[in-house]
Amino acid sequence: MNIKKGFLVSIFLTFFSLFLFAQDGDQVKKIVIDAGHGGKMPGCVGKKSKEKDVTLAVALKFGKLITQHCPSVKVIYTRTDDATVEVYRRAEIANANKADLFISIHCNASENKAAHGVETFVMGLHKTEANIAIAKKENADILLEKNYKENYGGFNPNSPEASIIFSLYSTAYLKNSAILASKVQNNLLKNTNLADRKVQQAGFWVLYKVAMPSILVELGFLSNAVEEEYLIKKENQDIMAISLYNAFIEYKNHIEGKNLPLLDVKTGKPEMQIQKPDSETITPTPVVQKVEKSQTESQDAQTVANPNQATFRVQFMATPKNMDTQSREFRGFPNVKKYFENNLWKYTAGDEISWDEINAILKEVRKKYPDAFIIAFKNGVKIPVSEARQ
Ligand SMILES: [Zn+2]
Repeated sequence: MNIKKGFLVSIFLTFFSLFLFAQDGDQVKKIVIDAGHGGKMPGCVGKKSKEKDVTLAVALKFGKLITQHCPSVKVIYTRTDDATVEVYRRAEIANANKADLFISIHCNASENKAAHGVETFVMGLHKTEANIAIAKKENADILLEKNYKENYGGFNPNSPEASIIFSLYSTAYLKNSAILASKVQNNLLKNTNLADRKVQQAGFWVLYKVAMPSILVELGFLSNAVEEEYLIKKENQDIMAISLYNAFIEYKNHIEGKNLPLLDVKTGKPEMQIQKPDSETITPTPVVQKVEKSQTESQDAQTVANPNQATFRVQFMATPKNMDTQSREFRGFPNVKKYFENNLWKYTAGDEISWDEINAILKEVRKKYPDAFIIAFKNGVKIPVSEARQ
């Protein structure tokens, strides 16, 4: 990349991040609550229950909490009874209403009857077999619909090309989707005894089509007898609805800089005490601040004698999740740092002036992350490795 081009790119990136930051000034006034499946499409089926009934029960309880405790927010449902609503219609409803947020509620199933736990998805390319299977399951309703070829532009969820369509997904809403996803996941984990299957990315048609921050939560496995018992109990559905409500309020507070009270999970009433600020380890804080912090971090690095000196790092992970660099997962890697780029947190090891040193670190890191590669930084800004080597 020549210098002029590089300059233009950095100008563009600056404006792009300003644009992302400007989004944070928005308000969260309209939410679409999407109860997965319905009518002729039962979703997954357990021994005693159907997914469409559990998702509807939780969706209605969740929406009711917003109407009761946060009446300035308009709640729009994709269905309020056992209606058949095509997948593409759900996205149309959200887009036509110009909603600020889209939450799709589902339950999971697996051939492995022991599989259990809650996971929350944001749109993205599914990279693991398990995520491909879940996306296929949730996209499969499309095949039950009449005229699916016209309504989905020839998309077939079972074809290998399905993921290519999703690779065209605009990442404009990914940052806020990831923030909401981690709040949903954390609140459900805090209030229920469901296990953590983490925030994930996969290609869901309904998330792909909505033009707003959006998540899809898989509350638990109806294919697991114990978990099914948990999911169908009314009092547990109340707890899950309160967890979704609190995640929504935390998100709204984050976007609008407000301090609206959460609900006490035991009483279902607003908590009286002042809400604690976002915990560093649990939820991502505003991205712009973090970027500044990570830039200072790299400027302060002790290995850099001269701040104008380029250094090399080994990048081994990119994820929407803002993780602690002291995380156990990174143990054994030297000098773990993170930076934010293209709506993803990218994690690096090492910060070396020497090319030989960084290659030695690369060799080590690749034992755990075979796709790791070398990148270069100068003054806290990423530069081409070729430039740094000169
Ligand atoms: Zn589903």
